[in-house]
Amino acid sequence: MAQPKLGQKLFDEFEEKKKEVVREPITLDQAAETLVALLPPDTLMFVKEASAALALPMWQMLLGYAMRCADRMELYSPSILSSWAMGQAASRDRSCTNCGQLFGSPHPDAMYCCHNCFFGKVSTLGHVDNCPTKKVS
Ligand SMILES: [Zn+2]
Ligand SMILES: [Zn+2]
Repeated sequence: MAQPKLGQKLFDEFEEKKKEVVREPITLDQAAETLVALLPPDTLMFVKEASAALALPMWQMLLGYAMRCADRMELYSPSILSSWAMGQAASRDRSCTNCGQLFGSPHPDAMYCCHNCFFGKVSTLGHVDNCPTKKVS
């Protein structure tokens, strides 16, 4: 049986999204904007700052980062976020593995809304005061 290629996860929903993105020709600037929107917000902020400081368009920044990786022999060790396998932004609201409530997080692969959920104590102690589930509108 043929093994799927490493990192290649094909979902019907994701295939539909890919079709949407390439329906019409887009410029390099539009392509870069589409891609950087999937970065974690903190990372995106620094990339935009660097782009402005260096007066380089975002698409050149992305290619420049790839070339920097090549210089450092890091092309085979990219940092892949799990949300990208589904074609989703890193900053999307996700459901907590324990309580199932939606929450936002600056950490791209966060699985639990707060430490009471992580330690399985939410049924006795409830969520912590600053639990992000309390901020989802
Ligand atoms: Zn939770
Ligand atoms: Zn919580």
